[in-house]
Amino acid sequence: MSRTFPLEKIRNIGIIAHIDAGKTTATEMILHHTGRTYKIGSVDEGTAVMDWMEQEKERGITITSAATTCQWREHRINIIDTPGHVDFTAEVERSLRVLDGGVVIFDGVAGVEAQSEAVWRQADKYRVARICFVNKMDRIGADFYHTVTMISERLRCKVLPIQLPLGSEKDFRGIIDLVENKVIAIPDEPNSASIEEGEALLAKHRQALIGNLAELDEQIMYAYLDGQDVSASQIKTAIRRLTISNCAVPVLCGSALRDRGIQLLLDAIVDYLPSPLDIPPISATHPNSGDKVLRLASDDDPFSALAFKTVFDPFMGRLVYLRVYSGSIKAGAQILNSTIDKKERLGKLYVMHADHREEIDHAETGSIVATVGLKMTSTGDTLCEPRRPVLFEAIRFAEPVLSMAVEPKSKVDQDKLDDSLAKLAMEDPTFKVYHDKETGQTLISGMGELHLEVLMERMFRDYGIRVNAGRPQVAYKETIAIPVESEGRFIRQSGGRGQYGHVWLRIEPGERGSGFAFRDQIRGGAIPKEFIPSVEAGVKSALQSGGLAGYPVIDVKVTLYDGSFHEVDSSDVAFRMAAFMAIRDGIDKAKPVILEPIMEVEILTPNQFLGDIIGDLNSRRAHIEGVESRDEVSTIRCLVPLAETFGFAGDLRSLSQGRASHTMCFHRYEELPQDLAEQIIARMGRTR
Ligand code: GDP
Repeated sequence: MSRTFPLEKIRNIGIIAHIDAGKTTATEMILHHTGRTYKIGSVDEGTAVMDWMEQEKERGITITSAATTCQWREHRINIIDTPGHVDFTAEVERSLRVLDGGVVIFDGVAGVEAQSEAVWRQADKYRVARICFVNKMDRIGADFYHTVTMISERLRCKVLPIQLPLGSEKDFRGIIDLVENKVIAIPDEPNSASIEEGEALLAKHRQALIGNLAELDEQIMYAYLDGQDVSASQIKTAIRRLTISNCAVPVLCGSALRDRGIQLLLDAIVDYLPSPLDIPPISATHPNSGDKVLRLASDDDPFSALAFKTVFDPFMGRLVYLRVYSGSIKAGAQILNSTIDKKERLGKLYVMHADHREEIDHAETGSIVATVGLKMTSTGDTLCEPRRPVLFEAIRFAEPVLSMAVEPKSKVDQDKLDDSLAKLAMEDPTFKVYHDKETGQTLISGMGELHLEVLMERMFRDYGIRVNAGRPQVAYKETIAIPVESEGRFIRQSGGRGQYGHVWLRIEPGERGSGFAFRDQIRGGAIPKEFIPSVEAGVKSALQSGGLAGYPVIDVKVTLYDGSFHEVDSSDVAFRMAAFMAIRDGIDKAKPVILEPIMEVEILTPNQFLGDIIGDLNSRRAHIEGVESRDEVSTIRCLVPLAETFGFAGDLRSLSQGRASHTMCFHRYEELPQDLAEQIIARMGRTR
């Protein structure tokens, strides 16, 4: 099959930004310039093409990652939309995993905000090459140089400003392009004084850029030392190398709303961000042997792809988005889902544009496509050619931190509610649904108040179900403070066939955030291999509820190191029970403690309200990490227990006459202070 697009001309990118920095507006403008949208949508009027979900339009935020494809300078740019709100980090995480490059948009007034920092760290984890766009240069208070300093200091990266604004705020008159060595004035304001001012800046800063590049890139260094002229194309090649290798980050500027700098941004995406050929071959394991396997970005390699998003489309049904890493695949072909070890048949394949879809007959290496027909595949699964199986590392999602009981307003909707919740949970791995057998309640849990609110709105919009919701409840966890060894014996030998399971487990505290790890150290066949999975299953099931207040036990390492068996009476069930009992006893002796989720909160407020807000934060057990003031505005960065954040948005509004804003994201679990732990234990009682 011949390729529709050479691999080196593909860019798989994400546009990453703090909420309100202008990601939607910039995407709109990109689609406009690449010829995909004829009428420019406006976020303010709620018609943006990318925000295709109803409540996104109302809230003016982008929640799901819609993928869209466009073309620029004979390159195909696949844009995977990433959400700006940290309550939706799972969306960001899954998009970053399949991107090769990112455009990070900053608000030129606010600079680097909390969410940009959180997403930046995630992008570091996946080694996503980035370029930055300092937006809103036309707004009052816009400061390009300050934003560049913030990027360099707060995000700890080597910045390369390759453009400068000519003037700012109302006086934003153009862009100085240090690479092409020219001043691009805004067409409706040709003004010779501006050009002169621009040229003076150009001469000074271009030299600084070349000096900066010389420090980082040998080829530029030789040219620089020889006193040669460094050409635009040499500069571009060096910037491309440095960007792709994550050694530096080019910074551009403009105003998405006024359509300034967007075409230069498109040029930079093509010039500096990697193609699938520029990233290292993806490493995977063989699902049976566990051996390491590499898949090359080539149509000649066996087919492999990652499912990075699942959505229910009202017209098409279940739609799975894939990133193809190697090989190619025809519509209708059979594939292996190696994550769940099941074969499935692909239905039709589509390239998705924000406003329409294009059916294609095959998907090739490097492409981002949507497919219908996959019934069992969910987000994070690996798909591959059945005879050449590989398994990619699974996408790891954070555990939900907040839960809430829900019931349908009308009892007849109970089945519909269960069905819609199951569908929503399949789309979003950080949204979980449980049924509490004792109370008969349905509990939903997610990453924050806004996350759950949005999901409830979707239940009404997409499925027509109105729900009553209970108070949000914090998802506490339990862990242990000291290591213990614990024995579990499940032995019944009175007449007939008996039961015999016997284990010795070492239970140790793990690092915060490490979750659960199980190790088998049985030597000399004290327990036959075939029973080990049952021991692990028994351990997991016992850790579902801890000994203090019945919350799940996390951050523990469990090692099976001894035990015994009986030729006739040993069974899976007996070993499961023995492990269960060993954990239950062991946890009680290992000084259990309760953990609570701590949120990272950033508040932006005019200085006059600073004192009152800090007072309020202190009453919420907040730990203030720092206060930064600039002009009339301060930023407070702090850690606050999730349990103390309820109602914070409303209180902040009244304390600041509606002028302060805040963002919040999950930080980590920490031990709950003793007095509060006692209250919870008294309330919950021993649940077992
Ligand atoms: P998102 O949340 O990052 O998608 O941001 P939006 O694109 O929705 O923009 C947030 C707000 O900022 C909207 O009211 C936009 O009209 C406005 N905005 C976006 N870009 C610019 C810009 O370049 N200049 C100005 N003055 N406003 C902008």
